[in-house]
Amino acid sequence: MTITANKDNLIWCDMCKLRFGAKHPKGQTPARWIVVSETMERKGVTRSYCQPCSNEIQTLSDGSTWTFRQQLDYALRMEQLDGI
Ligand SMILES: [Zn+2]
Repeated sequence: MTITANKDNLIWCDMCKLRFGAKHPKGQTPARWIVVSETMERKGVTRSYCQPCSNEIQTLSDGSTWTFRQQLDYALRMEQLDGI
């Protein structure tokens, strides 16, 4: 799984889109993070999340939660390095 910071406002959060529908203004929340799955069965599957939704995902007690947070910390560090 890789996470990159998204800067394209035309890429919307998948979870908000599911929740509110793509025609609703809340369903058009720009994604903050792009997550690409790298497991065998889901290779290349891309998910986009805004910050509140990615926070929400991190609070789940499922095993992938910790990995997501680690990846997110990593992405945040990389983004800061990019900004230097
Ligand atoms: Zn969202």
